[in-house]
Amino acid sequence: MADTDVRSLAELLAANKGHAVALTGAGISTESGIPDFRSPGTGLWNRIDPMEYLSVDALYARPETFWKYFAEVFGPTLAAQPNAGHLALAKLEAAGFITGVITQNIDGLHQKAGSCTVYEVHGHLRTVHCQSCGRTYPMREALALLKKEPIPHCSECGGRVRPDVVLFGDMMPAAFSQAVAAVERSSLVLVVGSSLTVSPANSLAFQTPHLAIVNREPTPADGRADVVLSGGAGDTLSAVLRELNLA
Ligand code: NAD
Repeated sequence: MADTDVRSLAELLAANKGHAVALTGAGISTESGIPDFRSPGTGLWNRIDPMEYLSVDALYARPETFWKYFAEVFGPTLAAQPNAGHLALAKLEAAGFITGVITQNIDGLHQKAGSCTVYEVHGHLRTVHCQSCGRTYPMREALALLKKEPIPHCSECGGRVRPDVVLFGDMMPAAFSQAVAAVERSSLVLVVGSSLTVSPANSLAFQTPHLAIVNREPTPADGRADVVLSGGAGDTLSAVLRELNLA
C-alpha cells in the first residue's frame, strides 16, 4: 500500500464528502477471525461448496445437514468483535464522509463498531423465524436447541425455523432496494473486502460515477475504479483516517 494511494483515496473521500457509501464483504471481517468465502487457502470455499450447503434447497431437502453446517460455520461468528476496518468506517460515517455501509456480511460487526446506517443486503445472524407462525427467536436459542435435536423447531407451534439470512436461492430483502437507492444518491462507492463476484450485490459497484476499492485480491471492477488499494482493510482504512486527520 503506497502512501500516494492512501492520499488518493483520502482526497476522493474528501471530494465526495457526504455523498459516499461503503460496500463491504466478507474480507473486512477476516481480521476479526471470520473466514471469508474466496481468499486463497483460508476461504470457506476451499473446504466446502457454500452454494450446496447454504442454499434454500439444502434447508428444505437436507435440513439436518444444513443446520449442522450452519452452526459449525456461523456459530463462532456470534462472539466475534469488530476490527480496525469496521471501526474506521464507523468513524468515516460519524465525521460525515460516508452516509452509511451496505454490507453483504451477516455478522453484525458494523453495528457493533458503531456504524448507524447499515444496509444488510444478505440478512443477519441475530435471529431466526418460524416458517409456520412467523415468531422470531434469537439465533443463540436456535443453535442451543441443536444440542438436543437435529433441526430447531418453534416452541410455540412446533414449526420449523430458518435463519434470517439470505440463502442462495432466496429473494433479495427490502434492504437491497434501500441499498440501490443509497448508491443512486451517492457519487462514490467505497468497496472494502469483497471479491465483487456475488450477484446482485456486486452490481452496486458498477452503478456509481466514482469507485474506490480496498481489497487483498483483484476484483472484476478494478478496471473502472478511480483508486484500487491492494492490502488489508484494517491497516489501509486506518492510514486513510490518519490522512484525513480523523485518527
Ligand atoms: P468473498 O469471500 O467472495 O471475497 C472476500 C474478498 O476479501 C477477497 O477478494 C479477499 O481477497 C478479500 N480480503 C480478505 N481478507 C481481507 C482483508 N483483511 N482486507 C481486505 N481484503 C480482504 O466475500 P464477498 O465478496 O463478501 O462474497 C461472499 C459472500 O459470503 C457474501 O455474500 C457474504 O454474505 C458471505 N459471507 C459473509 C461472512 C460474514 O458475514 N463475515 C463470512 C463469509 C461469507
